[in-house]
Amino acid sequence: MLEQIKADLNSSKTLLVAVSKTKPMAQIEDLYEQGQRDFGENRIQELQEKEAALPKTIRWHFIGHLQTNKVKYIAPFVHLIHAVDSLKLLKEINKQAARNERIIPCLLQFKIAEEESKYGLDATSVKALLESASFQELEHIQIAGVMGMATFTDNMDQVRTEFKRLKGYFDLLQTTYFAAHPEFKEISMGMSGDYKIAIEEGSTMVRVGSLLFGSRS
Ligand SMILES: *Cc1c(COP(=O)(O)O)cnc(C)c1O
Repeated sequence: MLEQIKADLNSSKTLLVAVSKTKPMAQIEDLYEQGQRDFGENRIQELQEKEAALPKTIRWHFIGHLQTNKVKYIAPFVHLIHAVDSLKLLKEINKQAARNERIIPCLLQFKIAEEESKYGLDATSVKALLESASFQELEHIQIAGVMGMATFTDNMDQVRTEFKRLKGYFDLLQTTYFAAHPEFKEISMGMSGDYKIAIEEGSTMVRVGSLLFGSRS
């Protein structure tokens, strides 16, 4: 399955983040031996345990909702935080990154699904965030792009529309705020059920779990 997904991603140079949440270390090691280096987790404690035990050359992506009081646990090693949707969280990531003398790359999460979801920015809130004086002062974070999750549905036209919406946000932010920042380049969208559509709509990173590791209980 890894080879098949990599073949699908190859022509677009999209990065595969293997979502290993709830899966045992042995399954991660198995993919690692096949060359996979980017893994995604959404629980702090599980990520800490896996990071401590597995090879240091793994790039750990935090893909879940992150609480401010938990940032300190992953700040020393996290490679990319995918789902940042508030200035409060960015400030805490900045603070913990400074303590670790590093810059932590983050993606801004957007609400793109029709369904009501608790998390994610929209056009108004992202403007307020990026234009605020305190955002300008954050020197230990780097906004590397955007992230979004489509509605959980079989309607692939709807999923495509939602991915187009995220690409629209990316383009808008790139021209308005990040024209001089080449590091703003990532669009994290696409999961097991919809990654092929995501690639067609411009994804640079897909987050694939169950297709690689089997379904989660
Ligand atoms: C679990 C999860 C995934 C992977 O989902 P699959 O359908 O198993 O591929 C991707 N992104 C996020 C944010 C997740 O929580």
